Amino acid sequence: MLKSLIKSKAIPVVFLALFISSTAFSADCVAIIGGGIAGLSAQHELAKNGICSHIYEAADRWGGRVRTGPSVDGIYTNAGAEFVDSTHSHVLSYMREFNIPLNPRTSPPHYQSDHFIYQGRVFTHDEVNERIFKDNPLAISRLLADEGNAAKHASLVHMNLDQYLNSLGFDGFAKSFFTTELKLEVGLDTKGMSAATFAELFRFDPNARSLRFLPENDEAYRVMGGTQRIVDALHFQHPTGVDLQTKLTSISSSDGKTFHLAFATPQGERNLAAHDVIITVPFHQLKDVHLNVGPIPSDVSAAISHTTYGKHTKLVIYFNRRMWNEAGHTGDIVSDKGYQIFDSSHGQPGKSGSLTAYIGDTLEPAQQEAKVKQVLGDLEKLFPGISKTYTTSQAFSYEHSYTGMAGVSENALIPKRPTQLGKHIFFAGEGISMTDPGYMNGAIGTAKDAVDKISTARNAETVIRRSRCIMQAIAPALH
Ligand SMILES: Cc1cc2nc3c(=O)[nH]c(=O)nc-3n(C[C@H](O)[C@H](O)[C@H](O)COP(=O)(O)OP(=O)(O)OC[C@H]3O[C@@H](n4cnc5c(N)ncnc54)[C@H](O)[C@@H]3O)c2cc1C
Repeated sequence: MLKSLIKSKAIPVVFLALFISSTAFSADCVAIIGGGIAGLSAQHELAKNGICSHIYEAADRWGGRVRTGPSVDGIYTNAGAEFVDSTHSHVLSYMREFNIPLNPRTSPPHYQSDHFIYQGRVFTHDEVNERIFKDNPLAISRLLADEGNAAKHASLVHMNLDQYLNSLGFDGFAKSFFTTELKLEVGLDTKGMSAATFAELFRFDPNARSLRFLPENDEAYRVMGGTQRIVDALHFQHPTGVDLQTKLTSISSSDGKTFHLAFATPQGERNLAAHDVIITVPFHQLKDVHLNVGPIPSDVSAAISHTTYGKHTKLVIYFNRRMWNEAGHTGDIVSDKGYQIFDSSHGQPGKSGSLTAYIGDTLEPAQQEAKVKQVLGDLEKLFPGISKTYTTSQAFSYEHSYTGMAGVSENALIPKRPTQLGKHIFFAGEGISMTDPGYMNGAIGTAKDAVDKISTARNAETVIRRSRCIMQAIAPALH
């Protein structure tokens, strides 16, 4: 009944979730902190294992960094996570489970992609490769020698990107291209970004004289209708399973078995006790949470104090035509003025379109119009007349976007991302994933790992308890 009312939109779901408070949380249920895709996945997987749980989320919506903004002219817009790789098996399995269709990102083979706008001039992908290989043979050979030297390669985490590019001898066009791409992707300044980022995210093939950015990612799909469909589908399986505006402030325990959680809510402090807790809050956000659970292991304190997140804004610009497609272009553009652009309307029906400018920084509302103007100025060089087809824009900024890929900045100084604190507090979320940090797949995968550990421990406890009962029952007969 409740589900059908929600589905029919008779009850606004946010309103509903705010007012249905946790249905009698018992200490045997798992307390999940954070209602992003990791927390929602943990809840769903626990339910599959017959274990009750409840989510406590600081914000006034579930989904965290998976969010679909308002549609414009029927075009959906992802404010946060956007692409799904063909290797992202956990995301893909939820898509199948919830029957959510994928939108493949294939363009006609004749389409041109990846224009780089440098000092007002437009370079194609092939021209970028050609220029970098032709102008920097020495720097490239030094770089490839470093790649073959494990010790040197490992030491790159201690050098910043700027110093490293200078030491290799890259300058001018090449340096601008690398720093632009990395700053826009990672959202950190080149002086705050380790050189390992460069080695990790660019692949040089000297024989083919080609350069690939993010070589391991194929960004093969988008989610039809918006990525938020995944978190909504997870949530609607357990519609009363989350309390919003409930921010964890402290966890304390005197025996390492029962954990007293305190939350700040609009109604004041709230407390509860739980035996198992899954924390999906990104480590650096735990700086505000008091952890009074005995000595904190160094891997956990290092993760809390060292992880660095970049800043990001998606500036989505809408048009009443897709002039980039009419010109036989994908719409993928990188500019040294500080944005990379992709076609966020790709595969969506209708004539109107949207280009999303990805900016490796936050954007104040007062700066939005000026930035749109700057982007349109660049686009005019590629698609004359496009400014006249501009309709509107919306911007979504993140102070903390995602942990970088392995080897990015200070994350690389944390050799192992901690998954547990004692026996009953488990960590999950994209930030602890060793295989897919920075991705929804990493968030779901780590949630599944935490659930496996809890299920295994509880099953083992049940077996021990049952054996004890059997022993007690047969003990008199044995005497
Ligand atoms: C601009 C952008 C683009 C991206 N693009 C992609 C992409 O194309 N593909 C992809 O796979 N991924 C992408 N990502 C990354 C993806 O969004 C994340 O990996 C994923 O959403 C992380 O989920 P999570 O549950 O681990 O963390 P979160 O979504 O951050 O969830 C954590 C939750 O904890 C809550 N919280 C924080 N503190 C507390 C507290 N004290 N108490 C209670 N709750 C708390 C937060 O409000 C939040 O809801 C992108 C991210 C951004 C920002």
